[in-house]
Amino acid sequence: MAKSTVALSYYQATASPAPAHPPLSGDVTADVCVIGAGYTGLSAAIELAEAGYKVVVLEAETVGFGASGRNGGQICTGFSSGQSKIEAQLGKDDARRCFALAEESKVLLKDRIARHAIDCDLNWGYIHAIPKASQFDGLKEWKNELDGLGYTGTQILTKAELEERLGTRLYHGALRESGAGHLHPLNYCLGLARAAIAAGAVIHEKSRVIDIDSGAHPSARTAAGTVRARFMVIAGNAYLGRTVPKLYGKIMPVGSYIIATEPLGENRARALIRDGEAVANTNFIVDYFRLTADTRLLFGGRASYSTLEPPNLGAYMRPRMTSVFPQLRDVKIDFAWGGYIAITYNRIPDCGRLSPTVYYAHGYSGQGLALAGIYGKLMAEAIRGTAERFDLLARIRHMPFPGGPIRTPMLVAAMLYYRLRDALN
Ligand SMILES: Cc1cc2nc3c(=O)[nH]c(=O)nc-3n(C[C@H](O)[C@H](O)[C@H](O)COP(=O)(O)OP(=O)(O)OC[C@H]3O[C@@H](n4cnc5c(N)ncnc54)[C@H](O)[C@@H]3O)c2cc1C
Repeated sequence: MAKSTVALSYYQATASPAPAHPPLSGDVTADVCVIGAGYTGLSAAIELAEAGYKVVVLEAETVGFGASGRNGGQICTGFSSGQSKIEAQLGKDDARRCFALAEESKVLLKDRIARHAIDCDLNWGYIHAIPKASQFDGLKEWKNELDGLGYTGTQILTKAELEERLGTRLYHGALRESGAGHLHPLNYCLGLARAAIAAGAVIHEKSRVIDIDSGAHPSARTAAGTVRARFMVIAGNAYLGRTVPKLYGKIMPVGSYIIATEPLGENRARALIRDGEAVANTNFIVDYFRLTADTRLLFGGRASYSTLEPPNLGAYMRPRMTSVFPQLRDVKIDFAWGGYIAITYNRIPDCGRLSPTVYYAHGYSGQGLALAGIYGKLMAEAIRGTAERFDLLARIRHMPFPGGPIRTPMLVAAMLYYRLRDALN
């Protein structure tokens, strides 16, 4: 078996040139202090800086260090939870408004990429493939639900139609969307950082916040300085850890892993995914894959609730990939990496306020590439005085995860249950 060269992720190896941002040093004041330079924080920073606010972003590592620079690059529709859980809480009309916000997140993404000339290999088209023939009726129901939400551009593919598009016989049909797709996530994030800087925001890398004061005059402290601000946006997501104790139990970090093959060449790559869509299966523990601009197959999936990274990721992930594409048995895995997805109990993102001036949003549950943009924008909107749309999402209630010693074992058990369910369904 080819050995993984690991070290860098594919995204780091193909990252656009980006400036380093000096760490925070000493005490500064700002209108808004943003914690975390991923999609959420940068989206809020762009909006607020463009509106004339003095914005300081504190990033523990480097721009895109978290999930935003590591993810599968898949631009998804709606929420990871599906609509029904949102409807159950908010009713049909408000749940439709939430879906419209999720759609707006894609428009925002597209507009920012165009407006700021972000070179990030954007492609449209998404295939959701079913592993079991018995799931075909479910596809029809799903399409009906999307039609009912006014979401057009979906199409059901039979097994035969799918096999014309994908070089695998594993699946029994699919739902194809033209309104979802994929991109190079780190280059998208670096482009957002460039846009935030251009609008006047200041980013400090290597500036981990170790303590916050969420009172009426919020402040964030790093080892080398403090930012005092009128408002604060907390956007550390799964990487925030225990820095803000009130947020710790609201999400759970789940490890997800990705490999990228060596370049396959145009013909071999197109024999896997003819039209270059993003693909995911419909299991609870999802396999997701797509082609990169340089004709690699990028294959992600598995999940680790224990947060322990498997020792040889390439070897760990390869069997998943070859179960879908046995013809890739002999290809070399050039890159393997992982990251933490922040999940909430109900898989609906969680947002709210810790005080009237301190906002947070996190827990996109594996579907934040587009969504994080709108949550960042809505926090900015609320800070600017129009909180209606933010408050719609903030009304959604969430069960906390247990703290203490049963936190991890409980989730490991939950994952085993879902693996079994995927296998039996
Ligand atoms: C392997 C993987 C695959 C995924 N695939 C997809 C996908 O295909 N499609 C999709 O839609 N979503 C996907 N996701 C989820 C998606 O990447 C996230 O929802 C999204 O990036 C969240 O953005 P964010 O800005 O909220 O968080 P992050 O990108 O995690 O950013 C948080 C930032 O805050 C910083 N930070 C944390 N604590 C502190 C502190 N104390 N002080 C200062 N800074 C701090 C971190 O260093 C980090 O840079 C995936 C995630 C992973 C890990």
